[in-house]
Amino acid sequence: MAFEYAPAPESRAVVDIAPSYGLFIDGQFSEAAAGKVFKTVSPSSEEVLSEVAQAGAEDVDRAVKAARKAFEKWSALPGAERAKYLFRIARIVQERSRELAVLESLDNGKPIRETRDTDLPLVAAHFFYYAGWADKLGHAGYGADPRPLGVAGQVIPWNFPLLMLAWKIAPALAAGNTVVLKPAETTPLSALFFADICRQAGLPKGVVNIITGDGATGAALVEHPDINKVAFTGSTEVGKAIARSIAGTDKKVTLELGGKAANIVFDDAPIDQAVEGIVNGIFFNQGHVCCAGSRLLVQESVAEEVLDALKRRMQTLRVGDPLDKNTDIGAINSAEQLARITELTEAGEAEGADRWAPACDLPSAGFWFRPTLFTNVTQAHRIAREEIFGPVLSVLTFRTPAEAVEKANNTQYGLSAGIWTEKGSRILWMANQLRAGVVWANTFNKFDPTSPFGGYKESGFGREGGRHGLEAYLDV
Ligand code: NAD
Repeated sequence: MAFEYAPAPESRAVVDIAPSYGLFIDGQFSEAAAGKVFKTVSPSSEEVLSEVAQAGAEDVDRAVKAARKAFEKWSALPGAERAKYLFRIARIVQERSRELAVLESLDNGKPIRETRDTDLPLVAAHFFYYAGWADKLGHAGYGADPRPLGVAGQVIPWNFPLLMLAWKIAPALAAGNTVVLKPAETTPLSALFFADICRQAGLPKGVVNIITGDGATGAALVEHPDINKVAFTGSTEVGKAIARSIAGTDKKVTLELGGKAANIVFDDAPIDQAVEGIVNGIFFNQGHVCCAGSRLLVQESVAEEVLDALKRRMQTLRVGDPLDKNTDIGAINSAEQLARITELTEAGEAEGADRWAPACDLPSAGFWFRPTLFTNVTQAHRIAREEIFGPVLSVLTFRTPAEAVEKANNTQYGLSAGIWTEKGSRILWMANQLRAGVVWANTFNKFDPTSPFGGYKESGFGREGGRHGLEAYLDV
């Protein structure tokens, strides 16, 4: 009998979730002024995990005031002192990473293998990386004494809750700013645990404030007159609304928005490797990834071979319990997101594309979607133009490199792209032609705190990560 490796599911007992959480302002948890709360639900079971305070304008104001007060001392600390706190936070994240990984998988629905092996190591890496910058600002080519901007209002989405928090908080603090951060309403828990980590690290009160709530809370935060810098990651629609709402103020802004990336496979690519890259590109994190390779552009001469291999590989993907270490695809984050994916895939069929998905059993409770492939897709189809933000791949073909570039660039977005070919010269030529902030060659969805990330066109503006990400929090 063949031995099948089946590790036990990760235990949810490793994380202690309180029945309710307040807002983290000025180093303490407190209720919202109006006493309002909302529930956070596990998308894989629909179980209520906890009740969380819903911040209103009064709470936002209190948090911004706490951050302003803390800014005076924090920005005056020698960089080496700020670095110590950031290093401490990074180490505590590592120490508590099992607890945080389970928490994130419960609140978000993503597989534990991803939270454990991707999200958490990258969170720690961001804090280590920016800790390293804190005492070197005067040597970064910005002049002897670059200044922090002040209080940053940061709003993040639900797809990588803790990682997006790290992308925002680590560079802001290293540069001497203080922050008020609002996590997404469906995934508030890891940010609240992070608040506890700030206390454990002895971070001075008010340097990091976490306020939970919905879009109205986010709007009150970014529009608050005493916010100096707005950092937003989320949908293009909300990004545009934020840009309009702060136009005419002196607030600095960075926007990380949506995407519709092309993953481009040439006929000389090693097919098995490319298929792994396609699968990783679109099914990683249930496709809830702004830079997901959601459009496969495959050279006509190998299209059949690639699609056959891809379908075989998709049949082996396991959809199910996020805490099971064998799971490849977890739960869709919310009923709303599931409805959006369902609507767009139905539109794909109605517009004439061919739909295929492997047979697989889905759990009865929770929000689930099978990995799905569309062929016979044209560039006019909604599934080729709109961000689905789910495990759905639209396949198009091309004959020449020039046609691949034209199709890849035929989108309102410009966040990322992938190229699969053995030819180095073609990679360099393509990378130059593609209007995408990140271009991966013979890999996909690789992230590193040292490299800048951000979009062209309606994928946003400004960069996060690397030296550029630091610059976004400094007056240079
Ligand atoms: P969303 O825009 O609906 O919400 C994002 C955050 O903004 C949430 O915290 C939400 O409460 C808040 N918000 C909503 N309305 C607001 C308003 N008027 N003012 C201020 N804040 C408001 O996006 P989402 O559904 O949470 O996330 C999915 C989107 O995020 C996708 O489009 C995805 O591509 C994008 N995303 C981009 C990146 C990137 O780096 N470019 C990374 C991750 C996700």
